[in-house]
Amino acid sequence: KINNKEDVIKAIETHNVKFIRLQFTDIQGTVKDVEIPVTQIEKALTAGISFDGSSIEGMVRIQESDMVLRPDIRTFAILPWGRNKGVVARMICDVHLPDGRPFEADPRYVLRKVMKEAEEMGFQLNVGPELEFFLFAKENGKATTIPNDYGRYFEFAPTDLAEDIRREIVLTLTDLDFDIEASHHECAFGQHEIDFKYGDALTTADNVVTFKYVTRTIAKIHGIHATFMPKPIFNDSGSGMHVNLSLSKDGKNAFYDPDKDMQISDIARYFIAGVMEHIKAICCIANPLVNSYKRIVPGYEAPVYITWSGANRSSLIRIPTPRGNSTRTELRSPDPSCNPYLTFASILAAGLEGIRQQKMPAKSVDYNIFELTKEELKERGIETLPGTLNESADHLEKDTFLREKLGAHVHDNILRLARAEWDAYRVQVHDWEIERYLNTV
Ligand code: ADP
Ligand code: MG
Ligand code: MG
Ligand code: MG
Ligand code: MG
Repeated sequence: KINNKEDVIKAIETHNVKFIRLQFTDIQGTVKDVEIPVTQIEKALTAGISFDGSSIEGMVRIQESDMVLRPDIRTFAILPWGRNKGVVARMICDVHLPDGRPFEADPRYVLRKVMKEAEEMGFQLNVGPELEFFLFAKENGKATTIPNDYGRYFEFAPTDLAEDIRREIVLTLTDLDFDIEASHHECAFGQHEIDFKYGDALTTADNVVTFKYVTRTIAKIHGIHATFMPKPIFNDSGSGMHVNLSLSKDGKNAFYDPDKDMQISDIARYFIAGVMEHIKAICCIANPLVNSYKRIVPGYEAPVYITWSGANRSSLIRIPTPRGNSTRTELRSPDPSCNPYLTFASILAAGLEGIRQQKMPAKSVDYNIFELTKEELKERGIETLPGTLNESADHLEKDTFLREKLGAHVHDNILRLARAEWDAYRVQVHDWEIERYLNTV
């Protein structure tokens, strides 16, 4: 375990590390990375490494572009590939201003800030994400949407052709300190899921970022393409990132209460109410692509209605069966194209606000909501998730609470990007329209 500067220097010597990649993520969750030779480590650990923030999406304007990367030494890890020119390690960094203050729009900073609020209320958030992804064939070096295999949920060899690749991803993640719980073929052809153990929100967000590039890298080494695109195939399941959440208080699971209905505490109910209250705006962060909204449609185990329930998988929020220390809520709307720091920050902020206001959620539903008519939905006050990125941007724009929690800089930039993405999409003429109208109109 790395706890201080001396541990880093020692690990570098022990493993004969030659290069260090300093990593951080932009507002969209894309990993950025600058590599330094090991000779620069002292400087990196003391003064930090400068970079041009104006070249990073959603960061700063050109006139205030000098930014500094401060490595978080607890994230030091040896990367298991690309060693032919020497061993490579990575550290995930916080972004600071030249005067030493943290940069308020750094996604890690935003998450830390909300985590601190939780701490002040006596809570720690535990997060366990389930990332789904597709493996596609490549042709002439280019990614296709031809599935790497024709397996379905929980299938195995010979139908599941990715067993070895999945195992290699699992082994690589294990080398990087992940505690892997399970891996399996998912519902769609070529679709997979690998689950790792939950942890505190910051560590888990770091893990999501790492998980994605490890998966992409291992796939690439094997000549296939891994993608976290939410809905690459029409008419089949998309890839989600269910977010399992619980709060601990004094080392105990604060969502568990054996004496209450469903054995879940009022704290859990307040948290659920808070998340449901802000979920339409959160979608703009947790479902940030035009494509994200093609996953949130009826028929594929993705949520559409803003409801919560026991084990029922048609709800937005499900309470998985385990109780005691494993009591948790599962938020099923996020997808793996999101920025995990900002996603966890906004979910946690909304949940904490529910607790502060002691808000009770509407009644849980224990039936299949997809069987209700429009009138029945209305009668029961059941609302739907936004149908498009533009719609979720409208909700985020109005959400003054999330604006305060994310900070104006992040809020403005997410909205700017969402609107630009929507406008670029809106003016396109799609194949579907040509097929539909060219000969009939
Ligand atoms: P599913 O039944 O939805 O497929 P999985 O078994 O794939 O669920 O994933 C469950 C996730 O929930 C794992 O990441 C696991 O570590 C996490 N988890 C378990 N207990 C808790 C808890 N108390 N708080 C938060 N996450 C938890
Ligand atoms: Mg799962
Ligand atoms: Mg599972
Ligand atoms: Mg799954
Ligand atoms: Mg799940």
